[in-house]
Amino acid sequence: MWRERDGVRLLSCHELERDGFINGFSTRMGGTSPMPQNALNLAGFHEDAAENIHENRRRFLRLFDGDWQLTAVWQMHSADVRIVRDREDARSDQVRCDALTTNAAGILLAVKSADCVPVILGDQRTGACAAVHAGWRGTVARIVERTLERMSAQYGTRAEDVRAAIGPAAGGCCYEVGAEVIEAFRSNFDDADSLFQPTREGHALIDLQRANRNQLIQSGVKSERIHTAPFCTMCRTDLFFSYRREKSTLGRVGRLISVIGRQG
Ligand SMILES: [Zn+2]
Repeated sequence: MWRERDGVRLLSCHELERDGFINGFSTRMGGTSPMPQNALNLAGFHEDAAENIHENRRRFLRLFDGDWQLTAVWQMHSADVRIVRDREDARSDQVRCDALTTNAAGILLAVKSADCVPVILGDQRTGACAAVHAGWRGTVARIVERTLERMSAQYGTRAEDVRAAIGPAAGGCCYEVGAEVIEAFRSNFDDADSLFQPTREGHALIDLQRANRNQLIQSGVKSERIHTAPFCTMCRTDLFFSYRREKSTLGRVGRLISVIGRQG
């Protein structure tokens, strides 16, 4: 479901919203960053002016009614999960991890991406939610499974109550990987070969959205409660930023963010 305000567009999961979780996957439209122009770059302070990012975040947050504390983290392709206790705790964005979870209202958990897979989770029964950044390393490290385990330990979340939305990411149509990645998946997942489409010697296309969907199902999330955005960031650079597509040609790549939070 698309939402738009003053030229800023985002993709939102209607079912999660119906469960009481405000959520959205950003696009590149309606911003102020020269990437190449009017780009809604929402992170990456070393590649864009801070005032652009702050203005873009202000525009992005206007799509959500109410008073929200946005919280992001320093991502490093790990399987570390951070518990965000309250709004005060949410103000710190220097924590290093790749997933965030909270059961407090009014906090907008955010993960950044540009090709990696963003996954957001909402548990209507306990009010807990989570935002997860899963690149290939995080996927191999089973970060969505780790996040569900933390939600279960911390908030009593049961996987069968969870609804998940998997956001736009480099798709199985475009994301080619080499022997190192193929080997990492083969040694960690019995069904790894179902994720690959062989290309040239020693290379294959990998479907990371599907890999994360499989992990959610194996953790007990019902398949009908997993919603996958039908967009590849590498195919659709008109809508999204793609690190792999744009880094070499433009030098600088914007960052998308994916957010979820519980309404008070
Ligand atoms: Zn594609």
